Amino acid sequence: GEYGREKPGRVIAHFGRSLDVGGADDDALHRCHLRANLDSLVTGDRVVWREASDASGVVVARDARDNVLERPDARGQLKPVAANIDQILIVFAVEPAPFANLIDRYLVAAEATGIEPVLVLNKIDLLPADGGELRGLLARYEALGYAVIEASTRRDGGLDTLHERLTGRTSVFVGQSGVGKSSLIDELLPDAALRIGALSEDTRKGTHTTTTARLYRLPSPLAKEDGELIDSPGIREFGLAHLDERQITDGFIEFRDYLGRCRFRDCRHRQEPGCALRDAVEREAISAERFASYRRILDGLAPG
Ligand code: GDP
Ligand code: ZN
Repeated sequence: GEYGREKPGRVIAHFGRSLDVGGADDDALHRCHLRANLDSLVTGDRVVWREASDASGVVVARDARDNVLERPDARGQLKPVAANIDQILIVFAVEPAPFANLIDRYLVAAEATGIEPVLVLNKIDLLPADGGELRGLLARYEALGYAVIEASTRRDGGLDTLHERLTGRTSVFVGQSGVGKSSLIDELLPDAALRIGALSEDTRKGTHTTTTARLYRLPSPLAKEDGELIDSPGIREFGLAHLDERQITDGFIEFRDYLGRCRFRDCRHRQEPGCALRDAVEREAISAERFASYRRILDGLAPG
C-alpha cells in the first residue's frame, strides 16, 4: 500500500512503468512505480510521489511540463523523450567546421521546441590566431540574439564559460558526431558515480541498461549551484527530425518581423509579388545567406 506524505520529485530515469525519482530534499534516488491512471512519464518530469510500504515509491501526479523534447520512434511517430529543459547546447567544432546551413537547421529545430538554443563552438584550441572565418560566422548569430560559447577540452580553463552557462539550468547537448560531445560530457561529469546517481546497491541490481534519457547532476567548480544534464544517444541526435514549413519559417527568428506583411496571406516567399520577406532580403535587412539557407531547408536539400 501507499503511505507517507506527498512530496515533490523529478524523474531521473525511467524503465517502462518503473521510474527513478530524485527527491527535492536529499540526493537519494527512489525507485517508483507509476499509478495506473497516469500516462507515461519522461526524464525531467516534475512529479508528486509518496513512499510505499516496500521502501519504493509511487508517483501519484505529474506537474504541467514547461516544454518537451521529441524524437521520432521506429514508426516515425514523434514521442517525448525529455521534459522541462532550460537550454539546448548545440555543439559545433572548429574541426570538422560546420556549414552555416547546419547551424540554421539546429536552431530551427530548437526554436520549434520553445527551448532556448545556445551555440557552443568546441575545439577552439584548433582555431587559428586570427579566428578564421568561424568567429565571423558566429558573430552573425550573436547579432541575431543567440548566445555563443567557446570551449575546449584540451586547454586549461577551456570549459569555464560552459560551466558558468550550465549553472542552475537543465541542459541537453546535441550536435553532429565528432564535434566533441562525449569529450565535453566526460570533462563536465568526471565522477562515474555521479552518472549513475546516488542509487543504492540494492536498487541498482534490478536496473537494466537503458537507452532512455537520464538526468545527471553537473557539479560546478566555479559556483555553488549545480547544473543538470539530460543525456541519451537519441537526444544527442536531436535536430535531424522532420519539420513542417511553418516551423521552418518561424525558426528563422529575424523573419518574424516581416511575416504577415506580404501582399498575399498565403505567401510562400518564392515568386509572389509584394513579398515582405524577399523585400527585406533585397534591402539587406535579412541576410541573403540566411534566406538561402531557409530555402535549402524548405526544399529538403542536404546541409551545405
Ligand atoms: P562526439 O562524437 O560529438 O561525442 O565527439 P567525441 O567526444 O567523440 O570527440 C571527437 C574527437 O574530437 C575525439 O578525437 C576527441 O578527442 C576530439 N576532441 C574533443 N574535444 C576536443 C577539443 O576541445 N580539442 C581538440 N583538439 N579535440 C577535441
Ligand atoms: Zn512572402
